[in-house]
Amino acid sequence: APAIEFHEVGFGYTAGRPILDRVSFTVPRGTRTAVVGPSGAGKSTLLALLERFYDVHAGSIRVEGVDLRSWRRTALRARMGYVEQGAPVLAGTLRDNLLLAAPDASDEDMRRVLAQVNLAEVLTRDPLGLDAQVGEAGVLLSGGEAQRLALARTLLAAPPILLLDEATSALDSRNESTMKQAVDAASRDRTVLVVAHRLATVLDSDQIVVLDHGRVAAVGPHEELLHTS
Ligand code: ADP
Ligand code: ADP
Repeated sequence: APAIEFHEVGFGYTAGRPILDRVSFTVPRGTRTAVVGPSGAGKSTLLALLERFYDVHAGSIRVEGVDLRSWRRTALRARMGYVEQGAPVLAGTLRDNLLLAAPDASDEDMRRVLAQVNLAEVLTRDPLGLDAQVGEAGVLLSGGEAQRLALARTLLAAPPILLLDEATSALDSRNESTMKQAVDAASRDRTVLVVAHRLATVLDSDQIVVLDHGRVAAVGPHEELLHTS
């Protein structure tokens, strides 16, 4: 079965105001799908439904062939990791922040994921390494670093499926390419569904879903979409 299937999904936050209307698309295993579209199109809502913050009103969502409603939450979380936009940095050590999603991870694992997201450098900024205090009580991470720490946290739990919401906040170009590299590293050997805000992320994806006013306006690889538009 595909990693993720949206089948005729309908949803609204309030009665009489549909946000998603008969949304259907499939995310094949081991591929990266980018969701694009204007602000308010319903892109983040797709991820919120996958995270089961809300239930669909019509249609169904399947993960690895199983209806979302039939998954046990803990089992689902182990299969599908979510990196939210603007995930908070907790006041505590780097280790505290990393162990949230994977309490059993070793220091070696933590150093490896930090390197994957180009954050190995923060370990050298303080002689205490993983014991460095971050957040309000210690080293303040930049917005880009905080975003990559959230990605590292999710990667540590090693979910085969990754849901990403690329930040819209203005990152400087160095941070932008660093985040792109981190997303690319995270995408290797995984299925990724990313709400994309960067053209580079879109162009490097296997499939693009164009969402407009809660409807799928187009699906396909970018070569195909450029041809038909
Ligand atoms: P996008 O990610 O494409 O910008 P969203 O999925 O965030 O779009 O939002 C789609 C629509 O749903 C918008 O009109 C937004 O105002 C509305 N919306 C989003 N979240 C909520 C919420 N929690 N309660 C009510 N309306 C919401
Ligand atoms: P950048 O230069 O990468 O854009 P900034 O240093 O301007 O990022 O930080 C952006 C925002 O991210 C800050 O205003 C703050 O709200 C939040 N932030 C950054 N580091 C932390 C942290 N360690 N704990 C909580 N919030 C943080």
